Amino acid sequence: MIQDGQLLNYIAGKWVHSRASEYLDVRNPATLEALVRVPLTPAEEVDEAARAAQAAFSDWRRTPPLERIQYLFKLKRLLEENFEEIAQLTTQECGKTLGEAKGELQRGVENIEVATGIPSLMMGYNSEDMARGIDEYMFRQPVGVVAAITPFNFPGMIPLWFMPYAIACGNCFILKPSEKVPMTMSKVFELIDQLGLPPGVVSLVNGGKTVVDALLDHPTVRAISFVGSSPVAKYVYSRAAANGKRAQCQGGAKNPVVVLPDADMEMTTRIIADSSFGCAGQRCLATAVTITVGEAGPVFREQITNTAATRKVGYGLDPQVEMGPVITPESKQRIESLISKGISEGAQVLVDGRDSHIPGYEHGNFVRPTVLDNVDPRGELGHTEIFGPVLSLSHVQTIDDAIELVNSTSYGNMACLFTSSGAAARKFRYEAQAGNIGINIGVAAPIAFFPFSGWKESFFGDMHAQGRDAVEFYTEKKVVVERWPREWSRKF
Ligand code: NAD
Repeated sequence: MIQDGQLLNYIAGKWVHSRASEYLDVRNPATLEALVRVPLTPAEEVDEAARAAQAAFSDWRRTPPLERIQYLFKLKRLLEENFEEIAQLTTQECGKTLGEAKGELQRGVENIEVATGIPSLMMGYNSEDMARGIDEYMFRQPVGVVAAITPFNFPGMIPLWFMPYAIACGNCFILKPSEKVPMTMSKVFELIDQLGLPPGVVSLVNGGKTVVDALLDHPTVRAISFVGSSPVAKYVYSRAAANGKRAQCQGGAKNPVVVLPDADMEMTTRIIADSSFGCAGQRCLATAVTITVGEAGPVFREQITNTAATRKVGYGLDPQVEMGPVITPESKQRIESLISKGISEGAQVLVDGRDSHIPGYEHGNFVRPTVLDNVDPRGELGHTEIFGPVLSLSHVQTIDDAIELVNSTSYGNMACLFTSSGAAARKFRYEAQAGNIGINIGVAAPIAFFPFSGWKESFFGDMHAQGRDAVEFYTEKKVVVERWPREWSRKF
C-alpha cells in the first residue's frame, strides 16, 4: 500500500506508516524515474511484527489445515484476477519484460497450488508393536514464527516459494522483500489483506540490513529463509545458526552449460541465448559460461554471435522488446567493468554490450548482450558472478574435460548439457556437481513439486525451497511412543 508516495508496512493485520528516519527511492531501471519511497524500517518495528506473529500463532496452529488452505485458494484467485497489474508493477520496478514478469508470477502461483496439498503433505507416519503393545507415530507440528528475506530479481515468485507453505503448515510468516523492488509484494499484500486471515499470520516489513539483522537476532523468530548473493547468504546462515535458528539460504551462481557436437545447434543456440540474456542475465539459473566440445565450438560461436547481436533491447512494457535493463546504475557499471577486466585478462569480444544507448531511454541502466570468447576460467571475469547479460565461451576437446571445468567452479546451482546422446546425458547428470541439471534445457528451474536445489557456494542449509523440502523446513517432527497397559500388553 502506498500513501503520500511512501510504502507502508503490514503488521498485525494493518497497514502502518514506518517510523523510519531514512527512506530510499525505488526507481524504474529503464527510465530512472522515481516510483515510490521505501522505508528503511528500524528494529523496533520488526519486534512489533514478531510479537504480532507470536500472538497469532497459538490459534493459527490449532486451525485445521483444511481451513488454513482455504485462504490459499482465495489468494490464488485474487492473484489471477490481478495478474496483469502485478506483472506490470514487476516490470516497472525490476526492468524485466512483461512476459518474464508474468512467467515468474505464474511460477509463484504454482507454489500456492502445491501448498494447498498440505493436509496430505504434512501427514506423519506410524507403526504398531514397536515392542509388544507399544505403538509409535510421528506428527508434524509448525515451527512457530518464521521469516523470509528475498532478492531483487524475482519480486513476485521468490516470496511465494516460502509464504504459502509456511502458513499452510500453521506457522506465522514475516516477509522482508528486497528494498530495490518492494512494490510487487506491496500489491500482493493488498490482496492478502482481503483474505480475512487472523491479524499477525502474515506481515510485511520493508527495509534493508537493519530489518535482516533484527529478524536474525529476534528470539521469537524460529526459522529464516533467504535468497540472494552468496556472501550475504553465508552471513545470514551463520548468524541464524549462531542464534539457534533453522536456516535455508540460497546464494549466487555462475552456471556452466556444455554443448556437444551432436547437439541440435539451432535449437541449442536459441535456448542458450534465452538463458543468458533473458531477464538481462539477472537470474540465478542464467547460463554464464558455455563450454563447447570439439567441432561444436566454431558453429556455436558463429550462431550465438548473430543471436546476441540482434536481440531487441528496451523497455520491458514494449511488446517487441526481448530484454530489459539491469537493476541499477551501479549494477550496469559493475557489469561493464567486469567485461573490461575480462578483456584485459585476454578474452576476445565477439559482441560488446557496453555503452548502450536505447533511443527514448537514454537514462536507463541498459547493457546489451555481450559474448566473450576464450575467457580465462581462473581470471576475475572467469570466476565472478556477473549477474548481467554476459556469456563467456570456453572450448575443450572431450566431455571429460568439460565436466572437469563444470566441477571446478565454487558454485553449484545449475549445470546443463546439450546433446542427442542418451549415454552422454546420463554421464553428465551423474557426474556434474550442481543441484539443478538441465538436459537440452537452458534454465533448469524445478517446478513447485520439486526442491529448488543448489550445491556448494550456491546453498547453505539442508532443506531447500518448494515442495516436500518446504514442508520439512516449516515443520518440527514429534515422535510419540505409546503404551496402554492391559493384559494384551507387555507386563512389568
Ligand atoms: P543481495 O544479497 O544483495 O540481497 C538479498 C537480500 O539480502 C535483500 O533483501 C537485501 O536487503 C538483503 N541484504 C543485502 N545485503 C545485506 C547485508 N549486508 N546484510 C543483511 N542483509 C542484506 O542479493 P540481490 O542483489 O538482491 O539478488 C541477486 C543475487 O541473488 C544473485 O547473487 C543471485 O544469484 C541470487 N539469487 C539466487 C537464487 C537462488 O535460488 N539460488 C535466486 C535468485 C537470486
